Amino acid sequence: MNSHLAATNGGRQFESLQKLNHTLHFHLARLLGVRESELGFLLDHIESCDASDPMASWQTDSLIERYSKNFDLDLGSILSKLIRDGALTPFDPTLLRFSPDGVRMPALAVPLLPVARNPGEVTIASSIPGLDTLLQQPEFQVLNAFWGVPKLTAVWCEPDHLRQVLNQVADTLDLTPAKGRLTTEIGNGGTPWVNLDEVSPSGKVNHWFSPTLQRRYGACPVYCARRRLTLAVEKLLQPNVKAEIEGALRHRFTVQQVLADGAALERFITTSESMAISASGILRSMSALDHADRKNERLEVIHADSLQRSSHRYRNDEEAVIKFVHSILYKGVELGASDIMFQEFPAQLRVRYKVDGDWFDQEGEFPGHIAKQVISRIKVISGLEIQYVRLPQDGTFPIKIGDQRYDFRVNTTYQAQGEQAVLRLQRDERSVKSLSELGMSSHYVDAIRDLMEGDHGLLILCGPTGSGKTTTIYSILRSVDAIKNNVLTAESPIEVFLDDISQTQVDDDGPYSFAMWARGILRQAPDVVMMGEIRDEESVEALMRLSSSGHRAISTLHTNSACEVPNRLFLFRAQPFMVADSLKLAISQRLVKKLCPRCAIEEPLPAEERLVRLGINPGWLDGVSSVRRGRKCDFCRKTGVSGRKAIFEALIVDDEVKIAIQERAPALQLQRILERRGEASLFEKAVREAAAGVISLEEACKFREVGSTVSLE
Ligand SMILES: [Zn+2]
Repeated sequence: MNSHLAATNGGRQFESLQKLNHTLHFHLARLLGVRESELGFLLDHIESCDASDPMASWQTDSLIERYSKNFDLDLGSILSKLIRDGALTPFDPTLLRFSPDGVRMPALAVPLLPVARNPGEVTIASSIPGLDTLLQQPEFQVLNAFWGVPKLTAVWCEPDHLRQVLNQVADTLDLTPAKGRLTTEIGNGGTPWVNLDEVSPSGKVNHWFSPTLQRRYGACPVYCARRRLTLAVEKLLQPNVKAEIEGALRHRFTVQQVLADGAALERFITTSESMAISASGILRSMSALDHADRKNERLEVIHADSLQRSSHRYRNDEEAVIKFVHSILYKGVELGASDIMFQEFPAQLRVRYKVDGDWFDQEGEFPGHIAKQVISRIKVISGLEIQYVRLPQDGTFPIKIGDQRYDFRVNTTYQAQGEQAVLRLQRDERSVKSLSELGMSSHYVDAIRDLMEGDHGLLILCGPTGSGKTTTIYSILRSVDAIKNNVLTAESPIEVFLDDISQTQVDDDGPYSFAMWARGILRQAPDVVMMGEIRDEESVEALMRLSSSGHRAISTLHTNSACEVPNRLFLFRAQPFMVADSLKLAISQRLVKKLCPRCAIEEPLPAEERLVRLGINPGWLDGVSSVRRGRKCDFCRKTGVSGRKAIFEALIVDDEVKIAIQERAPALQLQRILERRGEASLFEKAVREAAAGVISLEEACKFREVGSTVSLE
């Protein structure tokens, strides 16, 4: 080959190439700090390279390795120093797949490996630091001619990685110059670029720069070593974006950039995302996710009929995981579940639904090894970081079943046994019922309407967590004319988005608390304000101020009964006269479980003595001869109940109650006032529901202690 080359135009090029050997070696010697007296080994290295078979010497030690051995220096420290001094972008060419058509490399004493090629440009990988600068020198333009491109850029790689690739391409090495140039103009330098289609995402590198971050910044990690992370980008990142990424990484890495084609980036990121949830790593891209309903949002489209066509053979793990998650979400929606939980245990995945306030398990055995994939899949669609296992994370995702869209809020945490993801189905405005549909008596509905249409006043809803306060609040807000009134809310979190109402999400553990929201509220000229929860004195003061100065305010308190509300407000340092003036209505509520319509049967009313023992006044059951109970069937999942209903008790503040509040009357005294007026307690109301056959007597008895007696929390 040599003799042939010498006779042609290539021969002159060959000679010019040989001159580069010296330049490259002395450049490297300078970087390594080799003294003049020690240069002998360099010359030996050049001599040892047989231009007709350079591969033989490339596959033995590199110049840097030879230097390290010759002077008994640690190779690792030499490399680290070179990387540090040269601010190098280490690139791993072993990630690439090389064309079987052959790799064209010049017959130099050092290997220059072309790792990426696009029209007019070749990127070379070499172990020579600062090759990019050398390429600017006129004598290096012989390399442009060699590859026949106007532009050359360089990336640095470790000698060992380079040698691994050389071993792969040894059989197809082509030492001849390219025929002709692509354009006449020769130019060098610039940011290196990579052909991403030749790089496959690696789990190791994705660990440092997750698929979520890849998607967010449109950047792919191609290599990560020695505190430097190399990202492929379509356009160079703005300095502030680069700094943001560096800040977001768990470890202190400096981000280096190489350029890549936009479409290839997209393919790379999609593959990364798929890999993240796959055990096998051999996946198709997640095409279902690409069809977004809204811009920048991914929508899971669930086709009920395809779920029912259950085949047990899937093309791969990923498809099986997607279908599994879809079927659970579908079932959750169908059951009317408020929450779905995925719990990882060492030997199994537990899937649970919360329906009507109670959790129950999905039937079936799910092996433990799928738990990670299922939870990862949920994290991917919720925009969460897959690699953060122990850190609690919050996200959201929408799904589509038929024409209907459903939104889920997702929280992931780590328990002793493993990861856990809780999905809450976000309700939409159409699910908000009217107050009478909730089961509120017209007497209370009127009181609420009077307050909301009046000029000022405070409404407090109370009851423990899970008593349905939030549902009632949304019904109240929905009853307010939000066009005529400026309605503002502070919620943590927002559970239902309502039209025409300004809803603000606050976070009492975060920087934007209820109190902070309340401080600025007056400037927004509100008519009706709703503060999700009273947590501190500052919030109470703000609510008092608002509700006594021409506004209507709504909030909640964790008290057992409506009569405890004034005293609870005093504990937050509210003045009795202020409370008496602003509080118009306190409503306490509970949810009762309705009997299953399929299996409820009648049974005789217990004897009077037994009723009395249960604390039931037999008078409440006058004219009733039977009650009902559920036999427990498959329809109600052997619970005997299906659906819930709210029962309410209200303290309507009239003149008598107002005076009592001003006098700091204890809750018991307020309770007596209600009793005297014939106001039924929550317990009595529950028993009357049992008398009407809506709930069982057993269910009613759960409320024996509520409302009729005052508990001191
Ligand atoms: Zn039943």
